[in-house]
Amino acid sequence: PTAARHEDKETIRIDSPNVTYSAEDIKSRYEYNTTHVQKSTNAQGKTEYVAKPVKSTYEFKTETKVPKTGLMLVGWGGNNGTTISACILANKHNITWHNKEGLQTPNYYGSLVRASTIRLGEDPETGKDVYVPFSNLLPTVHPNDFVVGGWDISGHSLTDAMTRAKVLDYDLQRQVAPYMADMKPLPSVYYPDFIAANQGERADNVIPGNDKAAHVEHVRKDIRDFKQANGLDKVIVVWTANTERYAEIIPGVNDTADNLLNAVKNSHEEVSPSTIFAVACILENAPYINGAPQNTFVPGAIQLAERHRAFIGGDDLKTGQTKVKSVIADFLVNAGIKPLGISSYNHLGNNDGYNLSSARQFRSKEISKASVVDDMVYANHLLYKRGAEADKASSAKAVAEKGEHPDHIVVIKHVPAVGDQKVAMDDYTSELCLGGRNRLYLTNLCEDSLLASPLLIDLAIMAELCTRVTYSAREGPAADSPAKPEEFQSLYSVLSLLSYSLKAPVVKPGSDVVNSLARQRSAVTNFMRACVGLQPENDLLLSQRLW
Ligand code: NAD
Repeated sequence: PTAARHEDKETIRIDSPNVTYSAEDIKSRYEYNTTHVQKSTNAQGKTEYVAKPVKSTYEFKTETKVPKTGLMLVGWGGNNGTTISACILANKHNITWHNKEGLQTPNYYGSLVRASTIRLGEDPETGKDVYVPFSNLLPTVHPNDFVVGGWDISGHSLTDAMTRAKVLDYDLQRQVAPYMADMKPLPSVYYPDFIAANQGERADNVIPGNDKAAHVEHVRKDIRDFKQANGLDKVIVVWTANTERYAEIIPGVNDTADNLLNAVKNSHEEVSPSTIFAVACILENAPYINGAPQNTFVPGAIQLAERHRAFIGGDDLKTGQTKVKSVIADFLVNAGIKPLGISSYNHLGNNDGYNLSSARQFRSKEISKASVVDDMVYANHLLYKRGAEADKASSAKAVAEKGEHPDHIVVIKHVPAVGDQKVAMDDYTSELCLGGRNRLYLTNLCEDSLLASPLLIDLAIMAELCTRVTYSAREGPAADSPAKPEEFQSLYSVLSLLSYSLKAPVVKPGSDVVNSLARQRSAVTNFMRACVGLQPENDLLLSQRLW
């Protein structure tokens, strides 16, 4: 396989005894400082929190050779699938086009990795902050180098599918079309019960038969063939197909890895197409990200990924309304203002909206959108009273649900006239001091697929990066010596570091979900800093605050 072709112009080198660079990797030694807290009732009957600093040492190793990477999209012929493909082609071939605003040049606006920066530190002479491209802190795949392919139950060529999507300016469509002429989605797994009945009319490209084990093998072979045909080192698979209904969690069927494999073997009706893809990807060791809200990662799928040390991430892209909600709700609660009700309305006219006009698929989206304020509610027991029952709950989500919490409703309607121009409107009603009311109204209007496509690209880039990072916990007398090669292991299977781009992040079972956008971003940037031996960013800025 050939190395990636697109090189970035800026490079970063860390000058620290904690970092070593070799031809193959960057190794960092990292002291992780956290705080353990114990809550008890003291002799005076008061609640007492005892906080204790805790230190552990890790070594991180990041392979520096960026692999030739394939990006396979499930739902390639949809609005997101075609828009990502056109976006990559336009950037790769530097296609410019005209719209009513004038000449347009391609870019990756909206991509955390390609269009945002990280504060590296400050220049001691000028005192100025120094920012570097997010994509450069560690070696990441350039999206122009992705080899894109995938599946769709609709057999339209990518050119026809792009026309059907009605997202891009005609002058751009016209110019990317020749590059798409040979792109045709592979037939896919189609179980009509999982998506809206109205999608049946486009399902003309399906893998035949009802044998689910054969379907898994079919998808596995597709991945292997794609890898071989394009000389790829790695393949990342992303589900950007229609939202499915929830799969029922049935003991003995999808609750453990073995039961899930058995259910696939017996073609059990509760194994969804997206879970078939999950099983195939886990067995092929291809990282798999779920960009839609359904519960693809049933407990058995998570266990299977753990068993194979494969990587998974999900659920549902955090694009417009929910992304803003994970900022506004965080701001309100952390400002000591109490949201009493959050009412969210959406209408959209694309095929996603058409599918979501069906009740069971809407329900998946409703669940995914609903839990986004749970961690903020949990974080502030001064605003939200808990009561004994909530206090006993085992997770932050359960505490938030059982205790006092804001009313939160989500409405989605299909309005064909607005096409891909999704309209999202929110009303935040909050309580101010002395019984005052604060009403915030927010309207978000944009091409849904142009918001989503850069996120899918970010998810693929970050998932690929996570496959190249390994770590070793340095404990006891060994703590001071460098780890031996065999002491490094991969990151945990569920890539919660991808949460920034996901509406309802799947996390390690038993851990709490972080929805706050600011916390999610600092988690990922600080993780990357750790990989190059830099301390997490904080805004102490002591140089400004001390004499
Ligand atoms: P879309 O309807 O235009 O595209 C989905 C594609 O998936 C269609 O081409 C359809 O034929 C195909 N498909 C359905 N079932 C399939 C299967 N089993 N295998 C392969 N292909 C299959 O929708 P979109 O606007 O591209 O959105 C895609 C997904 O992303 C949806 O689930 C949506 O809810 C989710 N999402 C989108 C956004 C956004 O802002 N665009 C945000 C969050 C989540």
